[in-house]
Amino acid sequence: CGIVGYVGGKNASPILLNGLKKLEYRGYDSAGVAILDNDNIKVVKCKGRLEKLEEKVNTDTPVGNIGIGHTRWATHGEPNDLNSHPHISNSGKIAVVHNGIIENYMELKEFLEAEGYEFVSETDTEVVAQLIDYHYHGDIVQAVINSINEIEGSYALGVLCSDCPDKFVAARKDSPLVVGLGNGENFVASDIPAILEYTRDVYILEDKEIVLLSGKEVTVFNNHGLVVQKKVFKVNWDV
Ligand code: GLU
Repeated sequence: CGIVGYVGGKNASPILLNGLKKLEYRGYDSAGVAILDNDNIKVVKCKGRLEKLEEKVNTDTPVGNIGIGHTRWATHGEPNDLNSHPHISNSGKIAVVHNGIIENYMELKEFLEAEGYEFVSETDTEVVAQLIDYHYHGDIVQAVINSINEIEGSYALGVLCSDCPDKFVAARKDSPLVVGLGNGENFVASDIPAILEYTRDVYILEDKEIVLLSGKEVTVFNNHGLVVQKKVFKVNWDV
């Protein structure tokens, strides 16, 4: 299972697919990408090998400079196209990729269903997409902070918001995630090899840290919304 995120001046899909290939060693049963195409989130996902996703992406090419990608190792809900990530909130505004397990997803799901949200997958992850949507009132970082403060379990998350055409958000707890600092472009990934061909400067995220990335800027917050000063870690090895 793995996560890759990209924002910058290039077309996101090939970079995401390339990064996911470097994470194949972690194992997976399904894969997918979400790309922000103007103010529309476009999702391509399927059960099976990355080659299958690549074929789908090539026939139905999502174009955009910002996106998130995922390889899934199913824990909640069988491996099929519908349960594959990214998951989209009912409003279509929020897309989420997730590695890990949301332990309290049943109670969050009941709460969100009572609020009118309708679930389409069997995953624990879909709860995160709907919960961020529920907490979203114009500030995506705040919505993610409020959501992770309600979630129990493990997660590396990548979050796209259709209102934010040049930014995305990521967060982690008990599941790995690093930030890659490029020149006019920035990345997140479950592991360094996924981004090593683009940059050697990384931030290692700690538990419950949230990161907001644009092509020019990377800001890390703690789960109280305070900015955290991170040290740049220089990768001095090759794969
Ligand atoms: N628990 C999530 C699911 O089953 C994420 C699994 C993963 O880490 O890939 O969809």
